[in-house]
Amino acid sequence: MKIALIAHDKKKDLMIELAKTFVNVLKKHQLFATGTTGRLIIEHTGLDVRRMKSGPLGGDQQIGSMVADGQLDLVIFLRDPLTAQPHEPDVSALLRLCDVFAIPLATNLSSARIMLKALEEEQIENQFHLRKDE
Ligand code: PGA
Repeated sequence: MKIALIAHDKKKDLMIELAKTFVNVLKKHQLFATGTTGRLIIEHTGLDVRRMKSGPLGGDQQIGSMVADGQLDLVIFLRDPLTAQPHEPDVSALLRLCDVFAIPLATNLSSARIMLKALEEEQIENQFHLRKDE
């Protein structure tokens, strides 16, 4: 599976902890991330992550483009809903595209944990078939 990992600044520590907790699951998949999130995950876990540009510099749009091209299977985006983001339009566009293409999307820690747990137990393939019918 191709998985995108993104975290706003105040959620980056949570993303690092999440990646550490699920490192054995994540290492079986192809990982992509926005620039800073990717760098931190690599530094703290040693996972192989393909880094896009930083979010405010177009990274969210690059991930969105991958969604539109059918190149991503899951998106985990730990958003900060309490801080204004200069690239809010890019964030909204990415979330919208995940819905357009019915890509599983987790926007907070609890849903991300459920998603990764399902991936660990190999239950997520079934949900994924939903997308092909659209
Ligand atoms: P970053 O981008 O990983 O480069 O910080 C994330 C974002 O703010 O969308």
